[in-house]
Amino acid sequence: MVDDFSALGFETRAIHAGQAPDPRTGAVIVPIYQTSTYAQDGVGGLREGGFEYSRTANPTRSALEEALAALEGARHALAFASGMAATDAVLRTVLRPGDHLVLGNDAYGGTFRLIDKVLSLWGIEHTVADLSKIDEVRAAIRPETKLIWCETPSNPMLGIADIAALGGVAHSAGARLVIDNTFATPYLQNPLALGADIVLHSTTKYIGGHSDVVGGAVVINEDELREELFFIRNAAGAVPGPFDAWLTLRGMKTLALRMDRHSDNAERIVEMLAAHPKVSTVYYPGLTDHAGHEIAAKQMRRFGGMVSFTHVDGEQAALDVAARTKLFILAESLGGIESLIEHPGKMTHASTEGSTLEVPSNLLRLSVGIEDGRDLVADLRAALGS
Ligand SMILES: *Cc1c(COP(=O)(O)O)cnc(C)c1O
Repeated sequence: MVDDFSALGFETRAIHAGQAPDPRTGAVIVPIYQTSTYAQDGVGGLREGGFEYSRTANPTRSALEEALAALEGARHALAFASGMAATDAVLRTVLRPGDHLVLGNDAYGGTFRLIDKVLSLWGIEHTVADLSKIDEVRAAIRPETKLIWCETPSNPMLGIADIAALGGVAHSAGARLVIDNTFATPYLQNPLALGADIVLHSTTKYIGGHSDVVGGAVVINEDELREELFFIRNAAGAVPGPFDAWLTLRGMKTLALRMDRHSDNAERIVEMLAAHPKVSTVYYPGLTDHAGHEIAAKQMRRFGGMVSFTHVDGEQAALDVAARTKLFILAESLGGIESLIEHPGKMTHASTEGSTLEVPSNLLRLSVGIEDGRDLVADLRAALGS
């Protein structure tokens, strides 16, 4: 049995970390421990692993957490019922009434909604800033600032922020930096190694990878913060069930293979879109003329499977393209094996309308899947009408 995975490659960690054969039966795959409670040997006599009640801990979930921590090269990971449950736990662990946070200007719509509509009721204030502009971030910092919340690449504009630089700004202000690493995944980017304090994942997306489970995770190095997050999760109860943890673990084993194919296919599609007369702008950090390309190349292994673009003829033309694709399924979410297309302004980011986070109305977002890339290019070409 391997004790220390830190020297081993990403694919090896994804398949083996936290996932040793079951000591009792030899089962090669971590079992689904579909149980709410655990027999004790006398009062307080917990058995191996210390399991007591499945809101607090469950062996399938613990295996997932060990694997997630290993993939980010971190000390701790905690799994949650969804990405938003993980987000909520981080916000309520780190922030108190009177505190302030700085949030990216193209944050995930649900993250913005939680901060703007829910946290505000508890007296937590926020400032929206363009996190790719370090001076703008510095100007947004107040004495009460405890957190910078950043997505890179961001959703849906694929903006890139410099993680190391943001970490420097956060730390000199006595604040922590959170990176929502959902788009990049631990295969393409490891924010803790670059100076972030907290990594957040919607495991619903690439980590689960098969559009069949909702989940979230927080990954950290600080021991004390881990205890605080664990306390909040146990107190509030937003845990994934054993089957959901198992599906996520199963998906995660092939993350590296999938991310390489997602990236290959995205590159093909970007090449076609960039030359297409009906497309005005393509947003993809792999493009050398993307504003964040150099930073992305420095902090990411590759550029991932998310692509956004605008249609030259405006909103209706964009909506028509989304209605015409045959392989790209019109749906919210992202990061699954199948390709998806959506209109952020009317779908995932509808709640940002009229706010500083509003997105262009002629914007379409693609989650490029792992089908044959030629078929995907042909499908989009046909939907664009040439
Ligand atoms: C989907 C998503 C979330 C929220 O995760 P859920 O699992 O849907 O709750 C947070 N951040 C990003 C970048 C996402 O794409």
